Amino acid sequence: MSLVVQKYGGTSVGSVDRIKNVARRALAAQAAGHQVVLVVSAMSGETNRLLALTKQLSQRPDEREQDVVIATGEQVTVGLVALAIQDLGGKARSYLGHQVRITTDSAFSKARIRSIDGDALFASLSRGEIAVVAGFQGQDDAGNVTTLGRGGSDTTAVAVAAALQMSVGHPVTCEIYTDVDGVFTTDPNICKGARKLDRISYEEMLELASLGAKVLQIRSVEFAMKYKVPLWVKSSFNDDPGTLVCEEDAAMEDVVVAGVAHDMNEARVAIRSVPDKPGIARQIFGALAEGNVVVDMIVQNVSADGRTDLTFTVTKTDLARARETIEKLLGGDLAGARVETGGGIAKVSIVGVGMRNHAGVAAKMFDVLATENINILMISTSEIRVSCVIDEKYTELAVRALHTAFGLDKPAAGAGG
Ligand code: ADP
Ligand code: ASP
Ligand code: MG
Repeated sequence: MSLVVQKYGGTSVGSVDRIKNVARRALAAQAAGHQVVLVVSAMSGETNRLLALTKQLSQRPDEREQDVVIATGEQVTVGLVALAIQDLGGKARSYLGHQVRITTDSAFSKARIRSIDGDALFASLSRGEIAVVAGFQGQDDAGNVTTLGRGGSDTTAVAVAAALQMSVGHPVTCEIYTDVDGVFTTDPNICKGARKLDRISYEEMLELASLGAKVLQIRSVEFAMKYKVPLWVKSSFNDDPGTLVCEEDAAMEDVVVAGVAHDMNEARVAIRSVPDKPGIARQIFGALAEGNVVVDMIVQNVSADGRTDLTFTVTKTDLARARETIEKLLGGDLAGARVETGGGIAKVSIVGVGMRNHAGVAAKMFDVLATENINILMISTSEIRVSCVIDEKYTELAVRALHTAFGLDKPAAGAGG
């Protein structure tokens, strides 16, 4: 009997009717001969609502307590989904993170999964139940409730599939059900011309996810790649086959740009007049790492008179902490420097394994942005991507222009072929 892990996101469990839909789909998979483990998110909007409550009590809520609060959204849905399945005559049982021993590190609000104990799930499946696991949450070694970062239920699902797979010794498919038909060439909600991809490589998906395509949380793709979990993205509202995230093959390299991503969740930190001497970068970025601030792009200018400007981006949620961390350093080796922070930026990126074999891709991206009169604030590249930071207000324009220029638009309706 094959084993499948199905994950349903917030929109897919956003109302009682939609929860019934999930229950019907899970029972249909079981009737088709699968053992089914469900992983579910909080109902749409719920995690934001809970976060807003914590913010009403504290500007910078203690992250341990915040995790206690925001982990509750998923507790509600596992119970409701299990009830819906039972109501349709099926057998189901809900499990919170700690009940299937999803252990994580102690990085509250962005914890990493260390291990999952499949025993309770196998016991549940052997009783003929559909096991319904709470996404997004885990427990550290001290027993504290932790959460995995926004979109973390995807990672719970893939990690559960990987853990089960290791026990049974053959691949366990993980299906991520969401509110779009699969992975598209860009966010279909901002670009009408976006095209659904039948397949995408783990590497491209990893880049797209890390560059803002929130359809999959980046760590879920890392897990899938590492443990070779067959990963599908599908719609919970229709029977479209969706997108398979899989190993790269020769055909994928023929396409230079596979997708365009955008990220409006970053902010800029500029440290002006930094002494230009060995050890300064270590001090700054060491302190930020210690404070659990994730730094993305870094640009250091050529120095003048022994001083330079250092600019980097962090997620908006880490901005206040980043600023505090840097301000603490200003009294010491960084004396004379000053820190400026600001939002209002967006990062747009093009991604494709085909870039490895093609020259001039970055130049073409700069040309497209220049033609639209969009100024580039920062640039970074890797073997298979180019990213530009621009003024936030041009995000959609940039995404659409790049999507068209790199030949990604779907054929206009009515076109032949
Ligand atoms: P869920 O609640 O099911 O986890 P998310 O909102 O986290 O759903 O992710 C799905 C959303 O991801 C889509 O509604 C879409 O707006 C967005 N998205 C961004 N980039 C892409 C892309 N390249 N392909 C598909 N969806 C994308
Ligand atoms: N409920 C969490 C969030 O909104 C986790 C998830 O939906 O994946 O980020
Ligand atoms: Mg999501």
